[in-house]
Amino acid sequence: MTETMRAIQLNGPNDFEYTRVPVPEVGPFEVLCRVESVAICGTDPHIIAGDYPGFWPKEFPLIPGHEWSGVIEKLDEKAYEFGWREKDRVCGISHVGCGYCSMCLEGRYNLCLNFGNEKLGHRQHGHYTPGAYAQYMLSSIKSIAKIPDTMSFNAGACMDPFSIALHMTMRSKLQPGDSVLVNGSGAQGLMGIMCAKSMGAGTVIVSGSGNRLKVAETLGAIPIDYRKEDVPARVRELTGGLGAKRILECSGTERGIQQACASVAKGGCISMVSLPPGDGNITIPLKQLVLNEIDLAGNRANPNTLEKAIALAESNRFDIDSLVTHEFPLSEYRRALDIFVGRKEHSLKVMCKPNM
Ligand SMILES: [Zn+2]
Ligand SMILES: [Zn+2]
Repeated sequence: MTETMRAIQLNGPNDFEYTRVPVPEVGPFEVLCRVESVAICGTDPHIIAGDYPGFWPKEFPLIPGHEWSGVIEKLDEKAYEFGWREKDRVCGISHVGCGYCSMCLEGRYNLCLNFGNEKLGHRQHGHYTPGAYAQYMLSSIKSIAKIPDTMSFNAGACMDPFSIALHMTMRSKLQPGDSVLVNGSGAQGLMGIMCAKSMGAGTVIVSGSGNRLKVAETLGAIPIDYRKEDVPARVRELTGGLGAKRILECSGTERGIQQACASVAKGGCISMVSLPPGDGNITIPLKQLVLNEIDLAGNRANPNTLEKAIALAESNRFDIDSLVTHEFPLSEYRRALDIFVGRKEHSLKVMCKPNM
């Protein structure tokens, strides 16, 4: 008889249940981890709603969840040879590249040319291969990193989005002293502020609203309430008329992206992590972007930034835990999701505990 575990299983669009599924078997270069914390990501409600048919997931059922931390319980001997041990405290990311294609060899395994080809070893946990809304999570050693004893499991589960924020900030080519506009004050924006500050940004401005904007201010960013103020005008005012040299675009709205275009300094960069709604075909002032030599950087996930993010979070002593506003046992996932999606009770990162 195979062992079973509790998990959230998605059986179709908007149709999920808290149920029992088999505990996965460990394969070559893999570890089986007891999941201690798993955070709800902004992508999860879209996956659950069936917004990416035939892609995330390719087929049902799926166990979603990809922002997780936990402890290694079982491991393959090849994983052992690579230095992993039982009881190691780890956190994970979703992408597992094939490891052999030219994109993987360049280190850009988030753009693996064999995306979706499980035979060649590609995985994307919680997107089309099993994820972390479960008591146990099977992961390739390519997609985990150790977390220090001083880091909580909740903070560890935030290292996936934090390493995405870091990738976005690095891709903005931020130089010491550069002015930065963080567009959006959700979790990704707040983490972007932390990354920009720790990488030596000068003036950091944030455009957002509500309680999240207040949190952004406590992190040392100058707040602009986009609902009440003219964002580009205010950014120019705060940057001596120049505009922000680096923009971290986390708003994901047409208006937000247009405001980013209107707020960027000559020779600057707009580094984008958010996906605009629908097909994403929006109007931007391309002529102005060309003439001002604006770099547009798209960012997908977190290639090679997980360990960097952990080190940065540790050395800068950011209070990552303070971004975690809610904690639920996995059995209360429906409620957790409702609070997260509705941004209820000033929620930011909502954490589930599969083994609570
Ligand atoms: Zn995520
Ligand atoms: Zn590849």
